[in-house]
Amino acid sequence: RLLLNDYEQENVAFRFQPGDLNILPFRSCLGIPLEAGRKRLGGVLMESYQTRNYIPEEGDTLALFGKNLSEIINRMNIYRSMKDLALIDGLTGIYNHRAFKERLQVEIERARRYGTTLTLMILDLDKFKRINDTYGHLFGDLVLKKSANIIRGSVRTVDTVARYGGEEFAVILINTDKNSCYKTAERIRSNVQSFAFEKDGIRERMTISIGMAEYPNDGNDVQALIAASDMSMYHSKRLGGNKITLYKTDFDA
Ligand code: GH3
Ligand code: MG
Ligand code: MG
Repeated sequence: RLLLNDYEQENVAFRFQPGDLNILPFRSCLGIPLEAGRKRLGGVLMESYQTRNYIPEEGDTLALFGKNLSEIINRMNIYRSMKDLALIDGLTGIYNHRAFKERLQVEIERARRYGTTLTLMILDLDKFKRINDTYGHLFGDLVLKKSANIIRGSVRTVDTVARYGGEEFAVILINTDKNSCYKTAERIRSNVQSFAFEKDGIRERMTISIGMAEYPNDGNDVQALIAASDMSMYHSKRLGGNKITLYKTDFDA
């Protein structure tokens, strides 16, 4: 708790630069810290133009107010971190399936409202099962983590990167069509191919298959867009993997 009666008589270096009091009219204050357990959340400071404007008893009222406010802030912080946890994939640190679906819905609605396009990219590591079977799940986990990092590092920060399933990822690229995204996809494909996945003396190379479809031309809602991207990704697989496929209506051609 802080009660200062006359700034000109006290050490107020915590609040003012030297000379400030010549320009600023504040002369006294009453303040309380906001804390949760031993963690400092902030503070509340009342200030007055008059000296000796506050008495210690007023501090009790302010402290009570501060206790309630601290509790509210603390709960909001806990709620926010729990909400974040519920949306993040524990292994890779990128968005999980649920968060991905929610974001895709939101981004499609936004694109619909503003008449813009967006591109959905679906990526699947090639022959990943062999990695688990050969080196064990821990090495498989490492490959998933590193792959997620590579993908995240290859796109813009406004784009959503998610783990769609086991060794499948998804990227929502906003304000852009699938032809413009080809370069991004190529960057991811080649970054994965050239990365050495290394741990405990094991060293492996991986490749990834990519499919892309755009809203609204290839799919007009979440389901249709995922289906179109998925179909494109599987086309990359059929071509032998390590490929990028843009959605088209006729894949047999
Ligand atoms: P393809 O080239 O056709 O994509 O074949 P694939 O082996 O990559 O795909 P498949 O779907 O046959 O195998 C995916 C494997 O991913 C099977 C599963 O055990 C593994 N997997 C899924 N989630 C995890 C995980 O969290 N950690 C590890 N280590 N493996 C996982
Ligand atoms: Mg795979
Ligand atoms: Mg798969």
